[in-house]
Amino acid sequence: MRYRMPAALLAALCSLLIACSSPGADSAKTESAANATQPAVDAAADPIAERRAAVERVDDAAIIANASHGREWLTYNHGFSEQRYSRLKQINVDNVDRLGLAWSYNLGSTRGVEATPVVVGDTMYVTASWSVVHALDARTGEKLWQYDPQVPREYGARACCDVVNRGVAVAKGKVFVGTLDGYLVALDPATGEVLWRTDTFGHMREKKLQTITGAPRVFGDLVVIGNGGAELQTRGYLTAYNVHTGEQEWRWYSVPEDPEPPFADASMEMAAKTWDPDGAWRETGGGGTMWDSMAYDPELGLLYVGVGNGNPWNQDVRSPKGGDNLFLSSIVALKAKTGEYVWHYQEVPGDTWDFTAAQHIILADLEIDGEARKVLMHAPKNGFFFVIDRTDGSFISAEPFVDVNWAEGYDENGRPIIAEGARAKKAAREMRPSAYGAHNWHPMSFNPETGLVYIPAQGVPLAMESDPSFQPNTHQPGHPMSNLGWNIGHLVNTITPEAKPFGHLLAWDPVAQKEVWRQEYLSPWNGGTTTTAGGLVFQGSADARFIAYDAKTGDALWQVPVSSGVIAGPSTFEIDGTQYVSIAVGWGGVYGLAQRHSERMGTGRVYTFRLDGEAKMPEIPRAEDVRSTTLVSGYEYEAEDVGPGAQLYVSSCIFCHGVPGVNNGGSLPNPGYVDASVLESLPTLLIEGAWSSRGMPSFKGKLSEREAEQIAAFIQNTAESVAKQSK
Ligand code: CA
Repeated sequence: MRYRMPAALLAALCSLLIACSSPGADSAKTESAANATQPAVDAAADPIAERRAAVERVDDAAIIANASHGREWLTYNHGFSEQRYSRLKQINVDNVDRLGLAWSYNLGSTRGVEATPVVVGDTMYVTASWSVVHALDARTGEKLWQYDPQVPREYGARACCDVVNRGVAVAKGKVFVGTLDGYLVALDPATGEVLWRTDTFGHMREKKLQTITGAPRVFGDLVVIGNGGAELQTRGYLTAYNVHTGEQEWRWYSVPEDPEPPFADASMEMAAKTWDPDGAWRETGGGGTMWDSMAYDPELGLLYVGVGNGNPWNQDVRSPKGGDNLFLSSIVALKAKTGEYVWHYQEVPGDTWDFTAAQHIILADLEIDGEARKVLMHAPKNGFFFVIDRTDGSFISAEPFVDVNWAEGYDENGRPIIAEGARAKKAAREMRPSAYGAHNWHPMSFNPETGLVYIPAQGVPLAMESDPSFQPNTHQPGHPMSNLGWNIGHLVNTITPEAKPFGHLLAWDPVAQKEVWRQEYLSPWNGGTTTTAGGLVFQGSADARFIAYDAKTGDALWQVPVSSGVIAGPSTFEIDGTQYVSIAVGWGGVYGLAQRHSERMGTGRVYTFRLDGEAKMPEIPRAEDVRSTTLVSGYEYEAEDVGPGAQLYVSSCIFCHGVPGVNNGGSLPNPGYVDASVLESLPTLLIEGAWSSRGMPSFKGKLSEREAEQIAAFIQNTAESVAKQSK
């Protein structure tokens, strides 16, 4: 039998001896060197056992040790601090122009890819759309296995924001994935076989419209996952399961179910006092989903989580008498072992604008006013950059990192000073930032050497107006997406926003709370960032490039065209002394469903680069090869159908497919560019669910044939207007 050094001991040694050999690919060498009297065994002889062993040794100590050398990429945001900062520097500012392709791998997906590739030993675990997991040889890109959870395609319509997944967690011999349809699945790292599978939705499966898109987090013997769908019909919760068995260990709800006892715990009793008992939240679930960010501090034993927006969005409907509506739009600290509430900091009391606080949380130790502080950094949708004391949740500072018109700033207690008119009940008002967020889920990164945070910042103009006739959980033509269960309570873009859309990479000094440099992009919705000790920041762009910047100056040092717009963040790792950088590419996500900014339109693909890589970049189809670019013409319709068709289009189609002929189609086609025969048969196609295998919902019972004809009339009429204008 082979001798194995206990994983915790090996990790502890590695953290002391930064030069010690990387486990995983090199583990045979490490073990034989450390135990010279033991016979050395060739690891390559049994790659399956080796792959299993590599994931078996991933525990808290290994994750901490890895952050000190960065050879592997063991967690979604690289380490418990979630900094996305790698200490690798073989690739650096002086040689990054020598980067070349090592390999690329076709994920075969056509929807958004939001995953960061996780690398353990010499194996990469990456997810694509519909929660499909791919295990690859990280040296060559060779496929080892694929796990497809066969998510029922009707879940596509329950996902506000595309059928995406942000990646796996690995620990204690298992690979964990949260599936769009609400299962947390533990896989054998060597074969992809299911070891256990637990239903995180349970009794809420039929009652609520929710999904999972986030990457689970692991610590101790727990694996934690939340849910998503605060615009639909959900109540947010976060659940910890035993990594070995999949048994539930604890669950924490972010919003109360009822204003009366019994409460799930003391935090729900506290929260219930901040909600109007007569608000629509009782019917809709209240929202507050924790669909993305978490961070674990092993020293403090705290798990931080970012809580989403309210349901319905509009507080005048949700909680008409007002109130802070805890714990919406808050960072909450829980005891990691038990899920017990410890403290919260609410960024937007009484959220009414879809201002989630679910965006990426970074932990760091910063010197502020001459004092060493343990902080948590956050750049949520609402446009302010927050620095919070993570020991007790006390407010340190918040400054806007984009143009903001909803608040004047934050007072010394950390409460926003709401701008005059921002809560106006009647007039339409342009929101800066809008519900798309000044920064959304796309991960940012923090480089302790430059002291800067690299934020994919953006603006997507939207105007909102309180919706006086809103009915919760009801299809109302003209009310955005209400036929798919959305509860917004605002009307959108009843006036034309004045601001222009933008996207830039922003280097932000979190101590001085100011911008240091920026790089402008063509559009919003650019990828997540990763920074390295090589003095670099890597980011993919909406216009389909993968770029390396000088972390100090922002100079673009290297770039390469990739298959489509990039939304995910990269990872970097080292195998056999070679540093690699990987990015999973696949355009989509909520903004990318309906529009795109790249002429290349390839399927999802992982690209992996190294110095002097010589692999040939794959040929990528162009948009005109994939989709029609000709406006629909010749469909005959009645003029009187156009008006009602527009109302139905808004309530059933608009967020996914955009305005016909105006938006150009993102990961989903725009109906302004179809053949007239499609519009002829639209009633049958919509109601029979002809595209349901691709995630397009059947509208049986939701639209009549007559209504589908009205939608077709609106599409043709709008396409004709666009054609006229472009002449
Ligand atoms: Ca939301």
